[in-house]
Amino acid sequence: MAYFSSDAKSDMLLNNMCEVYNNMILDARDKPILTLLEKLRYLLMIKDILLKNQKATGEYIPRKSNQWNYEIIGASIMDNWAMDLEKRTCSCRKWSLNGIPCKHAIAAI
Ligand SMILES: [Zn+2]
Repeated sequence: MAYFSSDAKSDMLLNNMCEVYNNMILDARDKPILTLLEKLRYLLMIKDILLKNQKATGEYIPRKSNQWNYEIIGASIMDNWAMDLEKRTCSCRKWSLNGIPCKHAIAAI
């Protein structure tokens, strides 16, 4: 409360960042501290993978086929991928196998 401005005249101390964080750890909030920390480690690991995939998107050019489907074009003919955002699948199969959007999916998004 010490750092909030008194201009808003509200006692609500919640913001969207708190709500998102609480929602992300919802299933681990009532667990022991080690379980909660393991959940946080898992989420940070996913974030690192997403950042790594995001950095690699510059290698690809997404070409929209229809509302949900894209062709992701890489540097070589062997580096072209088919993406279905509605089904959350990529022909590289990484998104289907680990549930984390691959670099091709992020290029399309
Ligand atoms: Zn992919």
